[in-house]
Amino acid sequence: MFFLLTGCTKSAEQKQKAETTCISNMKTVQSASNIYAAEHDGKYPTSWEEIFTVVEYWDEPLTCPLDGSELIIEWHDDMWPTVECPNHGKPYQ
Ligand SMILES: [Zn+2]
Repeated sequence: MFFLLTGCTKSAEQKQKAETTCISNMKTVQSASNIYAAEHDGKYPTSWEEIFTVVEYWDEPLTCPLDGSELIIEWHDDMWPTVECPNHGKPYQ
């Protein structure tokens, strides 16, 4: 993996920062969902718009800071949405 990465244009430091930010963003989706549910009688958010009502500094669906890939998100009525990055996987193992 290390050898594959060396050919890319971004520095290792930039990649590390992107990964940290990406995982932090995904965790924020889940913690925001818990806050949303607490404020809506246990109903979890089922759209980005509902997430945005909790996280005021977000106003568009999250993308990976590494390359702008869209995150894969699955909405559920009865639990937080599961989120996954095509580059960085899931925030919790
Ligand atoms: Zn990512």
